[in-house]
Amino acid sequence: MSQNELEQLRQNLDRINMELLDLINERAKTAQQIGKVKNKQSIKRFDPVRERSMLDELTQKNDGPFENSTIEHIFKEIFKASLELQVDDHRKALLVSRKMKPEDTVIDIKGEKFGDGNTHHIFGPCSVESYDQVAEVAKAVKQNGNKFLRGGAFKPRTSPYDFQGLGLEGLQILKKVADEYDLAVVSEIVNPADVEKALDYIDVIQIGARNMQNFELLKAAGEVDKPVLLKRGMSATISEFINAAEYIISRGNGNIILCERGIRTYEKATRNTLDISAVPILKQETHLPVMVDVTHSTGRRDLLLPAAKAALAIGADGVMAEVHPDPAVALSDAAQQMDIPTFHSFVDELETFSNRK
Ligand code: PEP
Ligand code: MN
Repeated sequence: MSQNELEQLRQNLDRINMELLDLINERAKTAQQIGKVKNKQSIKRFDPVRERSMLDELTQKNDGPFENSTIEHIFKEIFKASLELQVDDHRKALLVSRKMKPEDTVIDIKGEKFGDGNTHHIFGPCSVESYDQVAEVAKAVKQNGNKFLRGGAFKPRTSPYDFQGLGLEGLQILKKVADEYDLAVVSEIVNPADVEKALDYIDVIQIGARNMQNFELLKAAGEVDKPVLLKRGMSATISEFINAAEYIISRGNGNIILCERGIRTYEKATRNTLDISAVPILKQETHLPVMVDVTHSTGRRDLLLPAAKAALAIGADGVMAEVHPDPAVALSDAAQQMDIPTFHSFVDELETFSNRK
């Protein structure tokens, strides 16, 4: 084959590519017009019967060299791309995305502006056990200049025989203590039916890792006017996590704080594996505040401080950690809660890493 002939064939190919490009785009424009007509008539965009008959027509006409299966494959891709074109851009960009809203979401919770660039931490016991227990922790939280008090009243426990929490009584204790110490309460709700009831007692609804894809709970939290702290599911990808937040915002509630709390991996040295890079990814991809739960991610008291420093250094808006007056007798997570003196030095050491305007 002469050099000239090869050159000629290549030129042909280039010309055919350009013709195909024009034709594909012409087809796309026609598909868009069809989409508009269908929209007006409220007809569903995807029509599998019509797709099948187009494919049949093509394969009947096909006399090679491409096999029918290859032709079907190529055209199915073209159909799919055309269908995607018909979905308007609005639906493609998620409401939680930076693309949709470039500026940071700042959530005002009892005067504390979560997401404003200052650090806001959440501390408190794993479970609410008694008034005295919560009050002792609240006093320490207040003393070291923090504002958010956590405590589980509804506990999603791995074993049904473990302490399940005090329920409504737990919320009442939290509310009483928070009023006395002027703190904001963060507490987990596990049942969609309890969301409304909880509004009188708590300032932030926590949705736990085990419920990140409890879609009815996400919808219920999306329908109330109360900030939500959404934890990453233990085996959830970042995309699944973002979509869970989208469930909440799509129902009208955009006051969402994302919380990385470690994911399940093969590693056994820590309770979960803290996916620290999730923090800057979530900050880039969404406009929501992002925090790190150092207790449930590490499950180790000796790692709480280094993990918290890492979280702030990488851009988290705050950390969550569990504190108990006497961790050894705690009804849940006894091995990893801090006692009060340890808590005070934890906050002191973290202070140099924190932003306070
Ligand atoms: C909690 O914060 O009390 C809790 C149960 O955490 P997670 O849902 O992250 O396991
Ligand atoms: Mn816990």
